Amino acid sequence: MDIHEYQAKELLKRFGVAVPRGGIAYSPEQAVYRSNELSGDKWVVKAQIHSGARGKAGGVRICSSEEEVAEAAQWMLGRKLVTHQTGPQGKLVGRLYIEEATNIAQEIYLGFVLDRKEERVVVVASAQGGMEIEEISSNEPDSIIRSVVDPAVGMQAFQAREIAFQLGLDAALIPQATKTIIGCYRAMSELDANMVEVNPLVVTTSGEIVALDAKLSFDENALFRRPDISELRDKSQEDQRETYASDRGLSYIGLEGKIGCIVNGAGLAMATLDMIKMAGGEPANFLDVGGGASPERVLMSFKAVLNDKNVEAILVNIFAGINRCDWIAEGVVRAVKELNLKLPLVVRLAGTNVEEGRQLLADSGLNITTADTLTDAASKVVAAWKEASQKEPV
Ligand code: GDP
Ligand code: MN
Repeated sequence: MDIHEYQAKELLKRFGVAVPRGGIAYSPEQAVYRSNELSGDKWVVKAQIHSGARGKAGGVRICSSEEEVAEAAQWMLGRKLVTHQTGPQGKLVGRLYIEEATNIAQEIYLGFVLDRKEERVVVVASAQGGMEIEEISSNEPDSIIRSVVDPAVGMQAFQAREIAFQLGLDAALIPQATKTIIGCYRAMSELDANMVEVNPLVVTTSGEIVALDAKLSFDENALFRRPDISELRDKSQEDQRETYASDRGLSYIGLEGKIGCIVNGAGLAMATLDMIKMAGGEPANFLDVGGGASPERVLMSFKAVLNDKNVEAILVNIFAGINRCDWIAEGVVRAVKELNLKLPLVVRLAGTNVEEGRQLLADSGLNITTADTLTDAASKVVAAWKEASQKEPV
């Protein structure tokens, strides 16, 4: 789960990381009010969306008058900001963060990620901050510093100091840099974050180290024990298809294709996506209905799949071990009737009570194509989708 920059800064501050002063605004008037509150003569108006690279998209503006603040706020609020991380649909700007402007002497990159091969948190840093880590690694690969943290002892002061020295910082800045690095690491481990990125971490012209941008991402499986973090969730920033499904306990991931999938078991769901591709189609989603799927849950899965307006055909693939094929079939029949489903539908059932399940589908009198094997099911759904899409008026 991602959170907004201002929320990330608030959290990092509690761990001793220095951040600029700022305030949140939902309207241009409020933005001006915030800038007055902060005093000074230069402010930064920052669009709060769950994406980086806002600067290049016009979502970060340095302003030197009230008028400029109001104008920047007016431009950003309500806009779907498209950055190269958001995809072409962009993300809606619903709130702004107004900060006192910082005078930058140097921009540093500082990131904390989980390295799966190392099975450790790895600190990635570079004295060439400001650009994204991908750019740094292609433009300035030699500038990248990597440091692996031993989880038994956590980030040690000597280790943080070593990173600070490798960044080439002045001796006078080492204590502050060390405090910042340790603070970020502690925030990550104590809040169950799986990513912390401060880009840029800046050295100011007055010799201070300040986090000018901050990104924190959290492990969703740990949110149950972090109610204060859960509260920071902003659904307006998420894929609406995924929000609907996750609110209902369905394991769903939105994809770009046309064939909606309802499968039980994550492994089978992955295999189903592969088979659809091999048959010449593109899956619209990953969806695991889970073990004991009641007819209600199947109906809910259909709704989740149909929330995606790109879906043009549906494949239900169930291998019932804990599940029962007759329950699934009952759910399928209900879904087709209640949702008045007109799209091509292929159902493959196998396992417990398979005969009863197939009978239910046959007796329904509905236009449902059945399949025996996964290969059969995948080729049938792709064929049905192709046929249906050809019939559509151009
Ligand atoms: P991002 O584009 O979404 O990563 O947003 P950032 O918060 O990182 O801002 C982008 C860039 O704007 C930074 O790398 C800085 O160069 C610049 N910037 C942001 N805040 C300030 C500020 O207070 N003063 C100055 N001079 N530049 C800033
Ligand atoms: Mn940034």
